[in-house]
Amino acid sequence: MNESTSHPLKLFNSLTRELELFTPVHDGEARVYTCGPTVYNYPHIGNMRAYVFADLLGRTLSWKGYKLTHVINITDVGHLTDDADDGEDKLEKAAAERAQSIWDIAKHYTEAYWDDIKALNIRQPAHWSIATDYVPQMIDYAKGIADKHCYELDGGLYFDVSTIANYGSLARAATEDGEGRIDTVEGKRNAADFAIWRKTPEGETRQMEWDSPWGKGAPGWHLECSVMSEALLGLPFDIHTGGIDHREIHHPNEIAQNQAHSGCDHSGAHFWMHNNFLIDRAGKMSKSAGEFLRLQLLIDKGIHPLAYRLMCLQAHYRSELEFSWENLVAALTRLKRIVMGIERLKERLAASQNDKPLHPKVADIREQMDAAMSDDLNSCPVVPLLEHLLSLKKVDAAQRMDLLREMDLILGLNLETLTRADLRLHPKAASITETEIEQKLDLRQQAKADKDFAAADAIRDELIAQNVELMDGDPLRWEWSISI
Ligand code: AMP
Ligand code: ZN
Repeated sequence: MNESTSHPLKLFNSLTRELELFTPVHDGEARVYTCGPTVYNYPHIGNMRAYVFADLLGRTLSWKGYKLTHVINITDVGHLTDDADDGEDKLEKAAAERAQSIWDIAKHYTEAYWDDIKALNIRQPAHWSIATDYVPQMIDYAKGIADKHCYELDGGLYFDVSTIANYGSLARAATEDGEGRIDTVEGKRNAADFAIWRKTPEGETRQMEWDSPWGKGAPGWHLECSVMSEALLGLPFDIHTGGIDHREIHHPNEIAQNQAHSGCDHSGAHFWMHNNFLIDRAGKMSKSAGEFLRLQLLIDKGIHPLAYRLMCLQAHYRSELEFSWENLVAALTRLKRIVMGIERLKERLAASQNDKPLHPKVADIREQMDAAMSDDLNSCPVVPLLEHLLSLKKVDAAQRMDLLREMDLILGLNLETLTRADLRLHPKAASITETEIEQKLDLRQQAKADKDFAAADAIRDELIAQNVELMDGDPLRWEWSISI
């Protein structure tokens, strides 16, 4: 344990809808499972908020001194176009529409997702578990619960939720009459019953199908997370995370399977934690709905991806966060100011004589950060605390730098290596390259040195005409950006 963190970690548990003290299942360890992406399309930035949140959780647990084992799964089979157990398999549908193999589609979008993970400085989990690697285990698992908890229909094997006490308590939804659900499958005993195994219909072939006691077919979506979390973390483990939509169907179904398989009432994880949505003005973001916001779009507009990470950290993970370009650019500007503050701090490091006891102001900032993060990962005050730390000019630079490094272990903004140049706006579609801008700025500086102010102004006007904004007065002349 990190002896120097004094606040006990409290986390909001969706199971009880209360803040609870985190006490690990295994001494000194934290085992976390995060529901990963369905790789039939690019993730949108809303999806990526779910992983920034899981990363913030993992980083905080590590900072608190727990040995973290984090698993994120990749759903490459089983997720239907409708969570209420109807519709087509998202990957089969994408493959048919694009006349491509499912395996190619899954590979392409898994790699695109990993690119976003890297760009957002999200730490690699101990395991990326791929659903299709676990199909034999899923079949064994289903065999183990089939007799007591399942029944067969033409469509495959279904889980009977009435065989489980308190089914759906996580969602707090009535199971009778399927509130919020649609009883679309003929013959289901309860509206909330869900497919464990989906049989390939007679006369059809799916690209992905496996033999099973219930016919050739594919696993239901919820099965993979129960099987992989148990296989990789053991039951019960500490924390299961996902977006708030998973609290309603996917996670209650996982819990039902865990209870059926283990034969006890335990949900399988001590904490179930859910991030709220990133929304845009039109409402919830969706990647099924044609155009959507990808991280790459932000990058193409010249916005550094860590500005999006900062934007997420400025809000509590359980609050809805509204996306707008103005908010994003404001986060970028804030990040730039922080980075400039760090550059000044680095300049003072050489003169530092860090032989004094910890300055009370530095100790106080650390204490406040610990209090905030221990209070259900409240990252919102941590950014102002960091800015305050940078403003303490009279305090020894090495002490400030040490705490800054520690704060960044949690924030994950790459603060030690990020430069102002990295954060300049340079959209892909700009009509002028960075090299051309730098050349013109050199010419302008020469013109000024020669006191040829007319020439200097002409160069400035030329740059303005190409949407390049100059911020004069910066000694390194790094301060330019291109409007988006
Ligand atoms: P999916 O790939 O659709 O399975 O979603 C991946 C993750 O993103 C899940 O944890 C979802 O709950 C989460 N998610 C989906 N939409 C949003 C959103 N707009 N904001 C935040 N999280 C989201
Ligand atoms: Zn899941």
